[in-house]
Amino acid sequence: MIDIQKIRADFPILKTTVNGKPLVYLDNAATSQKPQVVIDSIVNYYSTINSNIHRGVHTLSQKATDAYEETRIKLQHHFNANKNYEIILTAGTTHSINIVATGFTSLLKKGDEIIVSTMEHHSNIVPWQMLCERTGAILKVIPMNFEGELLMDAYDNLLSNKTKLVFVNHVSNALGTINPIKEIIDKAHQVGAAVLIDGAQSCPHLKPDVQALDVDFYVASAHKLCGPTGVGVLYGKEDWLNKLPPYQGGGEMIKQVTFEKTTYADLPYKFEAGTPNIAGGIAFGAAIDYMNEIGFDNIAKYEDELLNYATKKLLQIEGLKIYGTAKNKTSVISFNIGDIHPFDIGSIIDKLGIAVRTGHHCAQPIMAFYNIPGTVRASFSFYNTFEEVDILYDALVRAKTMLS
Ligand SMILES: *Cc1c(COP(=O)(O)O)cnc(C)c1O
Repeated sequence: MIDIQKIRADFPILKTTVNGKPLVYLDNAATSQKPQVVIDSIVNYYSTINSNIHRGVHTLSQKATDAYEETRIKLQHHFNANKNYEIILTAGTTHSINIVATGFTSLLKKGDEIIVSTMEHHSNIVPWQMLCERTGAILKVIPMNFEGELLMDAYDNLLSNKTKLVFVNHVSNALGTINPIKEIIDKAHQVGAAVLIDGAQSCPHLKPDVQALDVDFYVASAHKLCGPTGVGVLYGKEDWLNKLPPYQGGGEMIKQVTFEKTTYADLPYKFEAGTPNIAGGIAFGAAIDYMNEIGFDNIAKYEDELLNYATKKLLQIEGLKIYGTAKNKTSVISFNIGDIHPFDIGSIIDKLGIAVRTGHHCAQPIMAFYNIPGTVRASFSFYNTFEEVDILYDALVRAKTMLS
């Protein structure tokens, strides 16, 4: 059960006003708000144990290192990774994907094929296009239907012994679709391809089990699950992480440096060059603990109820069309009202204290598919309320009247 009042009290920002109105924050797919425990974790680090990690023999450095490494263990348990060194701490989803996409440069040759889906965030498209430019590999795209579901028969037809890699998101940030990733992974493995799952949008709502999924790489950002910006995770199977070359050179990622030859550190440090976002990494651990205390089953159940309520309510507005009506979806509602520009709706309801995203949501191919410039996107979290859905509804009715 979600104790909504108790949960809301954990988030200082939810008590604030915007444009003179109580904040109604419905832009959770862009970034989540942070509970006090996460904010405290950052303040505590800088106030009590600030020092560089993995280097000093001094006490503070050891404390900071322990706190930072504890996050790795928490993430290992959270994702059910087999080894703690299969968890690489990164700067976020984008960084994690670039580590893998750059690493595959030496593993692909001209004519190899790699597969993406229509409903990806730009950060799971562009790094792979750059990989194709470097290697001569060919990018293939899994199409989708108007509900925003991937066409799995078409996926079957794209797979062949030329396929080396498949990368799709677990949940679409623009449509909310939950993709059938287990099936996608199993089918890719049958032709010997590796799979990367972009979990940036799934991790705020569910707890993935990387061993049960048998996924090769799984990536996410801390800031979408109650943690700070500038921190993320790359889970990779040990074999794959050993096969990939390091992404960045620098301190921390070496075994020995001479001007003749440098040898690289073992996992996970091979991929962790330079001083990381230490405070952020530690706070990521606090965020994972916080969400697990609430419980992902509780979060998913509550958000589903909120999504169903909001969907029914918004559809009462004449001319409102929802993009993304997959059977299996999470708490994202992308919509337009008649031919009103999404930006105009966003601006008016912002005056009423409501934060939504408008535009292409870093997923222009989806907008091209629907032949629209963008949508208004309301995305819900476990700290949103049914009353906030009502406030959104009233504001949209008002905006529609003003704009049509
Ligand atoms: C937010 C998001 C990203 C990018 O995450 P960053 O934290 O900006 O690196 C990638 N994919 C999806 C599905 C997202 O929602």
